[in-house]
Amino acid sequence: MPPLHKTSIRSGAVNALNAQTPSSIYPYGFPFTLNPTMGCSFGCKFCYSPLTYRKNFAKSGRDHFFNESTIKIDLAESLNKDLERLKSLPQHLKRVQINETSDYYLSEVLTELDNQNRDLMMKILEVFQNHWINGNKWMLHILTKSHLIERHINKLKVMRDMIQVEMSFSTPYESQLRDLELFTPTIKKRLETIEKLSKEDIFVRVMAMPFYGGVTELDELKELLLMPVHKH
Ligand code: SF4
Repeated sequence: MPPLHKTSIRSGAVNALNAQTPSSIYPYGFPFTLNPTMGCSFGCKFCYSPLTYRKNFAKSGRDHFFNESTIKIDLAESLNKDLERLKSLPQHLKRVQINETSDYYLSEVLTELDNQNRDLMMKILEVFQNHWINGNKWMLHILTKSHLIERHINKLKVMRDMIQVEMSFSTPYESQLRDLELFTPTIKKRLETIEKLSKEDIFVRVMAMPFYGGVTELDELKELLLMPVHKH
């Protein structure tokens, strides 16, 4: 069981879309990032995100990142304004990586939002969808290691032309998983989610980085991915 992971709420305006570098837009990769939360209970030993939040967590250090998620509850409203402000950008720069530094699809985050009868990610998706309908077309790249993304499968299905989901793996072996990622969903669960999303024609990309192993382990992962889940 993961240790008690707290949640806290940050209300008010935020910078919803963050350019990759302050002074210029990164020409390849993903020009913008969007993180609805800060903090993650999955406890990956290789996680670099606490460094990203160094300023916020200067006093509390690395542990704070793994012990508490802060939910930016009004982010969708800020996003709407950002998208309006950036609508004249050239098309190739309208790409955003979502959950880049913190996984939103944590049971703790979703429970807190459910208790408040709110669905922040749904609101974010709706904002992007409304802009898309009005010609401001952004491509969304949603990162996660969590099967809980399935709760949005119906929305993702409708928005499939503008969505790419990225599921990451650091090893193909369940036996090695807990040495690397303390509390993430199992490999089997992630494979099931990939299959469910794929069956709905939602584009899923698999990321093997950081990855522990070489060609043999990568081949193992590839085999797992190409095999129907019930045969695992
Ligand atoms: S899932 Fe991502 S953000 Fe969460 S601990 Fe692992 S690497 Fe860090």
